[in-house]
Amino acid sequence: MKKLILITLGVLILPSAQAVCPDGKTYPVHFTFDDGPHSVLTPKVLNILKEEKVPATFFVLGKNFAGGKSNPNTKTAYALLDRMKKEGHKIGSHTYEHINHPTFSAARVKENIMKPNPLLKDYLSPVLRLPYGGGSFRSSNPATQAKNDMVMNTVKKAGFKHVGWDIDTNDWDPKKRPNLLPTLLKDICRYKGGVVLFHDIQKYTVDNVQDWIRAVKREGHPFVPLEDLVPEAAKPLPPEACEEETVKNVKALRKEVDEVLEKLEE
Ligand SMILES: [Zn+2]
Repeated sequence: MKKLILITLGVLILPSAQAVCPDGKTYPVHFTFDDGPHSVLTPKVLNILKEEKVPATFFVLGKNFAGGKSNPNTKTAYALLDRMKKEGHKIGSHTYEHINHPTFSAARVKENIMKPNPLLKDYLSPVLRLPYGGGSFRSSNPATQAKNDMVMNTVKKAGFKHVGWDIDTNDWDPKKRPNLLPTLLKDICRYKGGVVLFHDIQKYTVDNVQDWIRAVKREGHPFVPLEDLVPEAAKPLPPEACEEETVKNVKALRKEVDEVLEKLEE
C-alpha cells in the first residue's frame, strides 16, 4: 500500500517538474532590471542572481552617477557597478534623466543620451534602453515617426544598440502584480523567450524575483547571457559613445589657452 502511494505521488509530482510550453519546447530567457541602481534593493537582487546563478542586465540611470567618482554621494552606486561587473552581469545605459525622448529637442536628446557615457565608460556595454522605450516604436503618424527616427538615429550614432524587451512584466503596476508570474510564463511560450523587463527600484520585484526565477527554471527554460539574444552586447563600448566628452574637453582646453593668450597680451 505504502509503495502504491509513493508511486502515485511520483506520477503526480514528476510531470509538473518537467512542464514545457504547449508546443513542447523551452525557450532562452534573460532578465533585465531598469532605473537603478538602488542602494538597498539592488544588492538584494544581486544576492539572488548569485544564488540562482542567473546572468542579468542592469540598465542604469546616468543621474545616479552625477559628478562621477569624485562625488562622495555616488560611492555606493559605483560599488554596485563593480559588483555587477565582477559577478558577470551586463550594464547598459538607461540614459541620464528618465525622460520620454521623442517629446524633446534633438539637442536635449543628444545630451541626455551622451551624458552618462563618460561617467560609466569603464562599465557600459554598447547597449541602451530608452526610458518607456520612447522613440523605439513604429508610428503610423509621420510627424511622430520622424521624432522617433531622430531619437533612434542619435542612439545609433552614439554607438549603442537599442535593447527594448520581448516581455514586459509591468512589475511597477499593482493591478497587474497578482497575475505577474502566470502572465510571464505564458509570455515566455508566446514570444519564444527573450528579454524580460523588470525594475530593481521596485520592492515588490526584489521581494519576489527569486520565486519567479525558480518558476521559470521549473518550466525548463534556460537563463542565458544577454549576448546570446543580442550579439552586439558582447562588444566593448565604442569610442563614439564618449565623443561628446572629448568635444567638451577640447572646448575647455581651447578656453584655457585663450585665457592664457589674453593674459600674455595684457
Ligand atoms: Zn525606466
